Amino acid sequence: MTDLIKRDDAPEPCPFCKCEEVTTWLDYEQGEKWGYATCDGCAARGPDVRTNYSRGQDAPWRSEAIAAWNTRTHPAIAPAAIREAALREAANVCLKSADEFYDPDEDGAWEARSNANAILALIGETK
Ligand SMILES: [Zn+2]
Repeated sequence: MTDLIKRDDAPEPCPFCKCEEVTTWLDYEQGEKWGYATCDGCAARGPDVRTNYSRGQDAPWRSEAIAAWNTRTHPAIAPAAIREAALREAANVCLKSADEFYDPDEDGAWEARSNANAILALIGETK
């Protein structure tokens, strides 16, 4: 048995599958004490909210369930780690190009090493 009701509240797209179809349901297995918002795409659910056993389409818990859904955090992205990896890679490209010079003291090689050191300094490293 389902209680599928599309709400006008604006649920955020699913953080897992990006589906924009999010609906609220009563949890019949729990005796309708709890309700939740769920993704129609991948069935991600919750968090649960108390329903006060209210089944109506305008029951306050439905808005609460969507509000709770909207607080779900997106998968963790660490911008600092991404920046550091990108800078380290750029420095390695510079160092590799410096190694390609026949004479390590040639201006181009010196400049490439200098660029690498400037990049590494941005992440607190030196070579
Ligand atoms: Zn989903």
